Amino acid sequence: METSLTTDPEEAAAFIRGGGIVAFPTETVYGLGANVFAERAVAKIFEAKRRPADNPLIAHIGDASQIDELSNDVPASARVLIDEFFPGPLTVVVKKASRVPLIATAGLETIGIRMPRHDLARAFLFACGTPVVAPSANISGRPSPTTWQAVLDDLDGRIDCILQGEATAIGLESTVVDCTGAVPCVLRPGAISIEDLRRVVPEIEAFSGDTSKAAASPGMLHKHYSPRAKVVVVNQVSEAAEGDEAAFIGIGEPSGRFGRMAVCRSAEEYARRVFAFFRECDQAGIGVIYCECVEETGIGRALMDRLRRAAAG
Ligand code: AMP
Ligand code: MG
Repeated sequence: METSLTTDPEEAAAFIRGGGIVAFPTETVYGLGANVFAERAVAKIFEAKRRPADNPLIAHIGDASQIDELSNDVPASARVLIDEFFPGPLTVVVKKASRVPLIATAGLETIGIRMPRHDLARAFLFACGTPVVAPSANISGRPSPTTWQAVLDDLDGRIDCILQGEATAIGLESTVVDCTGAVPCVLRPGAISIEDLRRVVPEIEAFSGDTSKAAASPGMLHKHYSPRAKVVVVNQVSEAAEGDEAAFIGIGEPSGRFGRMAVCRSAEEYARRVFAFFRECDQAGIGVIYCECVEETGIGRALMDRLRRAAAG
């Protein structure tokens, strides 16, 4: 198939209404969307991304009234989080309504719901007129796409359309909170930190790595975020071994010479740049990417989660 490129949210939404799949920008990363209620379209997302069928998708909405199309059972904890953080980089997991097809949730009776804050994403979702399920718009396992060019590199000819926007502002995927248990639990850290969440729901639990919880979020068990180069997380800048085929990203400035180097002013900037940096290193034929550790507070927790998974992949 030919992949159309457009900056017009109406034109992109027409593909969704016709049963197609469309990549679109959000404040976190680019997503690959389909109408949640069109099973054939949702199946195309799994095919295009080569995504394992047991990895659930997040439903994106343009308006809070669409929550009722997806769930009839939104507990008080989820309501509080929605009131405080929607629109924004937060996904709440709640019981799904029976009309939501199981293919969208990878067979789970729950669904993740998020309302992006990004203007172009919202214009697109509004024009779609339906909730849109969307995982990140990359081939499964690869670094998430933070530019439309990264989407094109992975998915050209495999999807109907790319809605072209700016590079994404946050660069890491949304915070995912499971609100179906007695105590809400963070399944995936993101830009909305555990400290932010606890201001409104003090009892919220951080994901402990406990496998019974991981079963509630099967996607967390898959290989993720990996460039072709080997990723090595270092505690100190001095542990990065210089060389033309080595790269460095971090906040400190290494003294050696590297084939590619990104020195960031903050954990926020590091988070915003890391996935594009991984892709740039692959294009340059880099063999090993040294990533400096950051403190695990605020977005640093999400960044360290992604770096560890990339290093494990
Ligand atoms: P991505 O494919 O990068 O957008 O990530 C989506 C992730 O959100 C999945 O891999 C899960 O970790 C999480 N998720 C989505 N829906 C659910 C759900 N119903 N229950 C638990 N986790 C979910
Ligand atoms: Mg993903």
